[in-house]
Amino acid sequence: MNERDSEAMAAVLLEKGHEIVTDEKTADVLLFNTCSVRDSAERKAVGKVGILKRLKKIKPDIFIGILGCMAQRKGDELLKELPHVDFVLGTDQLGRLPEVIEKETKKREKISYTETNSDIIQGLGHHLIKNKTSEFISIMRGCDMFCAYCIVPYVRGREKSRPQDEIVNEAKKIVRLGIKEITLLGQNISAYGLNQRTNIRPENSPFAELLYKLNNIDGLKRIRFASPHPYFFNDNLINAIAELPKVCNSIHLPIQSGSDKILQKMNRRYDTAIYMDVIKKLKAKVPDITFSTDIIVAFPGETEEDFLASKNLMNEVGFDNAYLFKYSPREGTPAAKSENQIPAAIKEERHQILLADLSVRTTKHNKALEGTTLEILVEGPSKRNSERWTGRTTTNKVTIFDPCPSIKPGDLINIKIDRSTSMTLFGKIVS
Ligand code: SAM
Ligand code: SF4
Repeated sequence: MNERDSEAMAAVLLEKGHEIVTDEKTADVLLFNTCSVRDSAERKAVGKVGILKRLKKIKPDIFIGILGCMAQRKGDELLKELPHVDFVLGTDQLGRLPEVIEKETKKREKISYTETNSDIIQGLGHHLIKNKTSEFISIMRGCDMFCAYCIVPYVRGREKSRPQDEIVNEAKKIVRLGIKEITLLGQNISAYGLNQRTNIRPENSPFAELLYKLNNIDGLKRIRFASPHPYFFNDNLINAIAELPKVCNSIHLPIQSGSDKILQKMNRRYDTAIYMDVIKKLKAKVPDITFSTDIIVAFPGETEEDFLASKNLMNEVGFDNAYLFKYSPREGTPAAKSENQIPAAIKEERHQILLADLSVRTTKHNKALEGTTLEILVEGPSKRNSERWTGRTTTNKVTIFDPCPSIKPGDLINIKIDRSTSMTLFGKIVS
């Protein structure tokens, strides 16, 4: 989501006549779009901005701005902590970036704008799409779920969904410019549109309706989305995934914990039975579907038994990928006040166990694909070795192959898989 916001801001600034440079030493303005989800992300950002103190001494005319979630959370405090920073812009104030930069150039003053605003922010529909086949579209902002561990509702505000027509028009526009795959973004995407309805029940979310409209766009080849909340994952959405050829067979469905006791403490509003019901329905309707998830280990009060429940559930679903996080207390959230915090050594141990399990499973899943032929969307030269090209299967597996002159980025081609690792498939073009 931050990547999308950063890109939109860059696109707005380019339109205003700015230029993007690749070396920070040659920049006049340095912007940091920050994340607050875990403490480590904030510390990294503060560390990186701290290092720039030296550059600012040599080049006192540069402007340094901190944007996004940490800016929203800390506001003025950041200007005190990092006195070489010129401005701080919170999540709802990103639309003011060009105005703030202009103001700074005319009259140097410390600025901190962190007011919240329920309007959808101006300029966040802008894109930079040169040399890309795939692009993000943010369809909603904020979150109303208040999971007990999570800072997002406090720094990104209340859920706001964009109108369907606006999203469809944005998708059509970028497809006309060459984009073949879109990934829709929202913190609680399966509840898209619900806050405009009087009856906030999972079955009333019009997210599936939006997928049908996007599936009709000529030239668009694939649709992905992240992250749906299991509580709002209704049957219409399950049917849309099964019926719509452009919606990919790879679903990211965060579970967070495999223990019902912990899920309740997390205020997740579902239990493992509800979660498994969605998984089973999807597996029955879409046989080659793959799943990925988010899991937090060592949430306050997590016993060995609770942890094993997460480990077992991961095996039961057979996740192809998982973002595994060690619980990080976030000031102001209910879980941070809990007395049952888990020691760092146990957090680390549980994290390592799940990482090892995941690697064994993905190696096995990928090995089973050797000898099969899979359709991939071609992305272009691989970052590691530009002689070889890369693409992704509908199930989101990175696939490496030797290119040929008739194939270009954005094509859908068939690859016969001859080798694999836990992360990657390798194969040859099938003509
Ligand atoms: N809205 C998405 C959902 O509910 O699935 C997730 C968005 S959150 C920004 C991304 C992931 O970060 C969460 O799914 C959770 O696993 C993890 N996360 C959030 N707060 C955390 C915390 N305090 N400590 C560790 N991980 C956290
Ligand atoms: Fe955070 Fe929960 Fe909202 Fe996801 S649904 S952003 S985890 S509060």
